[in-house]
This record gives sequence, structure tokens and C-alpha cells, in this order.
Amino acid sequence: MTKKLYDADSHLFEFDAAVLSCTPVKDRYAVTLDQTAFFPEGGGQYADTGKLDAARVLDVQEENGGIVHYTDRPLDVGAAVHGTLETEQRFRRMQNHSGEHIVSGLVHTLFGLDNVGFHLGDDDMTVDYNGTLTRDDLDRVETMANQVVARNIPILTQYPDPQILPTLQYRSKLELTENVRIVTIGDVDCCACCAPHVAFTGEIGVIKILDFERYKGGVRCHMLCGETALEDYRDKYRNVQSVSLALCVPQNETAQGVQRTLDTLKQRDYEIVSLRRRLAEAALLSARCSESCICFFADALCDADSVRHAVNLGMEQAAVCAGFLPAESGWRYCIGSASADLRARSKEINAALEGRGGGQPNMIQGTAAASRDAICDFFGNFKI
Ligand SMILES: [Zn+2]
Repeated sequence: MTKKLYDADSHLFEFDAAVLSCTPVKDRYAVTLDQTAFFPEGGGQYADTGKLDAARVLDVQEENGGIVHYTDRPLDVGAAVHGTLETEQRFRRMQNHSGEHIVSGLVHTLFGLDNVGFHLGDDDMTVDYNGTLTRDDLDRVETMANQVVARNIPILTQYPDPQILPTLQYRSKLELTENVRIVTIGDVDCCACCAPHVAFTGEIGVIKILDFERYKGGVRCHMLCGETALEDYRDKYRNVQSVSLALCVPQNETAQGVQRTLDTLKQRDYEIVSLRRRLAEAALLSARCSESCICFFADALCDADSVRHAVNLGMEQAAVCAGFLPAESGWRYCIGSASADLRARSKEINAALEGRGGGQPNMIQGTAAASRDAICDFFGNFKI
């Protein structure tokens, strides 16, 4: 049985141990020790990483009641090894995890909700509660949680006697009866938990509840604490600063500034569509090849939609209406007719226009490489 050093001292980031076993497993080695400060993955929290002498500890799992360290190289059985944890990673996780206890304790006390799901990643932490909460509720919890940090109260862990355990009021996801580790944060929270926590709430730093969303009949909250929260703030501040400078609005009015810009762009888009249609209509008005056929060349500022719009208008004035839009190599065309079957004649049309395309009997679209004069000649003599 490996002695869990992290249980008694969460701030032990280096330790000495003896290697009990070492077995190759795929491309790794499964190592057990007589004692360890490495916390194995569990309860929504990833395993600690670090080193055992020169061997890198890539993962730590609790298996069959023991703790297995997965390393990148073998260690001699019976040898003494020095373990070092990725200290910053572990400390950040303790900050986040301990902050979550405070928030969940407050949510439980104030709203009677339980933490029913927890995930602690390196840049995101989510907690699921089995009931609904509003932004105002979460703001209130956030303010109170940060006051608990400022009080700098101790976070205590203990294994109460099995006889005393049933008399205690504590939060727990599992129905455990023995070896229950109880983590107490003053009058704020009392919870069964096996993970390492900071020793005093002041170590947590800021507690920030970010977004929340409806999830499985309750809510999922995203939150960050301590240095991870500070990094997130720094990153978001830079973003807000950039948006503020780009839009020339104060930093606390960037949301309104972005909305105003989006509204303006929407209005501009509408105006551009109208102007393109007018340009295409003007090209239509100034063109006529024969009595039965209109052929027009739209300005390059037009687009396929505006040319098609003008072709639809032209189809009311002549049996065939052909619109051409300057393209990278030649033209994009749109040809419409209310009476002729253009699809049946598309081979003949494409041959004359040096183009490719097709479509429906009353409208074909494609590309063409023929000269403007050649196109005018073709439609001038086009017979339905
Ligand atoms: Zn915990």
C-alpha cells in the first residue's frame, strides 16, 4: 500500500521514496512506490506530473487500491528515488479546486443545490449544479466567495471515526462509510474529498465565475481561480483594449460599440445590394441587341445576384435576356427566357460564348471567354 503523502501535506512538492515495482506497459513503465506526493487522476481532476529522478512521470492512476506512476523510463526495484512535482501545475489546481469548494458550499447553503459534476482542466473548470441559478445568484455567490478568500481561513482535512461520520453534515457525491476524508472550510463548506487543497483560503486568490449554461435540468458553471483567473483576465483585458482602440470607444462600452458597428455594416450591406441592383438595371436599360433578345454587360461592381435580378426584369421585356458580369478570365453569364428552352440549347450557346454552364429550361448560368463583340453578334442573330 502506497502512503499518500499528499493527503497530510498538500504543499509537499518533493519527496523521497523506494521503488516497490516497475513493469513495462506498452511504451511506458508502471511504477509503484512505498510513498508518494503525486495525486492520481480522480474526482474530475487530472493526475500530477513531474519526475522520479530522471524519469518523467506522465500519468498517475489509482488501480486496485494502489497508486501507479506511469514513467517514460524504467526504475530499479528497491532503489531510492527522489520525486519532484510540476509545482506550478499542482498549485494552480489546488487554487481552482479549493475555490470550487467555497463556491459549491455557498451554492448549497444559499440555494440548496448540489455539485453533481466537476471537471478541472488546465484552462477551464466546470461545475454542474442540479438546479437553476441566475446571473444575479452567481454574482452574489462570487462576491461572497471572494470574501471567504479575504478572511484567509484554514482548510482542514480529517478522517472522522465511522461512528461520528453519520452525525456530520457534509456534501458528498458518493455514499461512503469508511475512510471518508472530510474537508472543512470554516462555516462555509464541509465536503468529502480526496484531492489536495491549499492550506488557507487566502492562497486561492481571486475566484471568478465566468459563463454558465443550462445543463441536464440544472446549470453548468465555468469558473477560474488564482493564477489561472489572472491569466484569463490579462488575456481578456488585451482583447477588450484592442477592440476599444479599434472602435474608439471606452473599454467598458466595447459591447455597445461592436453592436453599433454590426448595425452599420448590416445597413451598408443592404445599401450595397440595392446599389448593385440599380447598376445592373442601368446596364439592362442601355442594351438591346435584337427585337427578341436583350444582351447587357454589367459593371464589375455588380455581383451574380444583381445580374440575375436584372435578367429577371429583362425576361419581361424580351424573349431572351442575357446578362454578363466581368470575371477573372472573361465573364460570368446568366441567361433567362420565359418561352425558350435554354437548357436544350445550352450546348449551342456555350459553344458560341466559349463557355461552360447550364441550369433550368428558363435560366442557365455559367462562364464565358468570348469577346464582347462576339457575344453581341451571337445574341443579335439569336433565333428562338
Ligand atoms: Zn476537494
